[in-house]
Amino acid sequence: MIKKTNIIFSNLYGSENPYITSAIKRGDWVNTKKILKNGKQKIIDIIKESGLRGRGGAGFATGMKWDFMPKEVKKQHYLVINADEGEPGTCKDRDIIRNEPHKLIEGCLLSSYAVGATKCYIYIRGEFYNESLILQKAINEAYKKKFLGKNIFGLNIDFDLYLHLGSGAYVCGEETALIESLEGKKGQPRLKPPFPANVGLFGKPTTVNNVETIAVVPTILRKGSKWFLDIGNKNNSGSKIFCISGHVNKPCNVEEELGVPLKYLIQKYAGDVIGGWSNLLAVIPGGSSVPLLPKSKCENVLMDFDSLKNAGSALGTGGIIVINKQTDILSSIARLSEFYHHESCGQCTPCREGTGWIMRMMRKLVDNKCTIEEVNLLEEVTKQIEGHTICALGDAAAWPIQGLLKNFKSEIINRISSKKKNVA
Ligand code: SF4
Repeated sequence: MIKKTNIIFSNLYGSENPYITSAIKRGDWVNTKKILKNGKQKIIDIIKESGLRGRGGAGFATGMKWDFMPKEVKKQHYLVINADEGEPGTCKDRDIIRNEPHKLIEGCLLSSYAVGATKCYIYIRGEFYNESLILQKAINEAYKKKFLGKNIFGLNIDFDLYLHLGSGAYVCGEETALIESLEGKKGQPRLKPPFPANVGLFGKPTTVNNVETIAVVPTILRKGSKWFLDIGNKNNSGSKIFCISGHVNKPCNVEEELGVPLKYLIQKYAGDVIGGWSNLLAVIPGGSSVPLLPKSKCENVLMDFDSLKNAGSALGTGGIIVINKQTDILSSIARLSEFYHHESCGQCTPCREGTGWIMRMMRKLVDNKCTIEEVNLLEEVTKQIEGHTICALGDAAAWPIQGLLKNFKSEIINRISSKKKNVA
């Protein structure tokens, strides 16, 4: 379990002022000049050695992603921060922005410097209006202190940071859709390649990173890669903010080590499942896009990228949705199907048609009007969507159904069979 001294987001709950004087007392903006003087490649190397993996969902190695950017800066480079946070069950970036905005701003400066970007955009979800005001105020403070702007720390580094409010489409959390939206177009994912590192924002080399990923960068650079590597598990280093919601007594956000047991997280921080642990039905461990885990797998599973993959799910955003036995699991997953159908941008046929078909089939399943053959067909159709679309929204629509059928298929079949008997 995480030691108090290893906690990065010490003001996650907003017990102190979020602004610059308090932030500096908490350790933000300390030795920033010294870190910048290390040079770009050294910063990238430290982040690579730390094993930091993206905290937005995919878990890709951050240092490696930065290394994809062209080394020679022949044209404008950009860093774009994904603060769209639309994944159901996830509300960590909002709290970072609300209570620790300077961690993000300092991270933007250091990370942009590493990838050769002199301009950075934070794309924040439009509904986070109050948070955007806090963030803008914090950005203004950083400019006033000359931590941003021209010739920062006398190191001949120029850097500008802009805040952009999105308009509320889930798919804009996908990095290329976000870029399109930032350019003023309809937020639709782009076909890849080319990847943003070569052709990104305004056609220029761009790295897109999640808020939490960038907000932990300054602390890693201050404390060293070994410090970060020693927290968590092998290949899953560091801490993570987990968001625990659903049928728990005390829904909360909490920073813990990667690899912490799921059961410990729920019982220690969220006051246990409503009705007690024995009343647990299932958990969606990483935001609504990932397959659910039945109670049997929740007993011992560890909350890190590899352990959850081995358990048949994913860490995703770390948004833990707890479902107890008073829930109709079919209705819950059907609700998610409606969400993904609503949020499909419609560019590719398997997603556009498939999400609607899944939604209608799930409604039929809830009403117990499906045949066993249709249940099998539903499973088959999710496999035709998965991996056959431009962006991961197709997978996100398929995986909750696959998780449901993998773990609750016998219950579904029994339900259909008992209805047949009753009719007979
Ligand atoms: Fe749009 Fe869905 Fe295709 Fe993604 S998978 S590009 S959301 S249609």
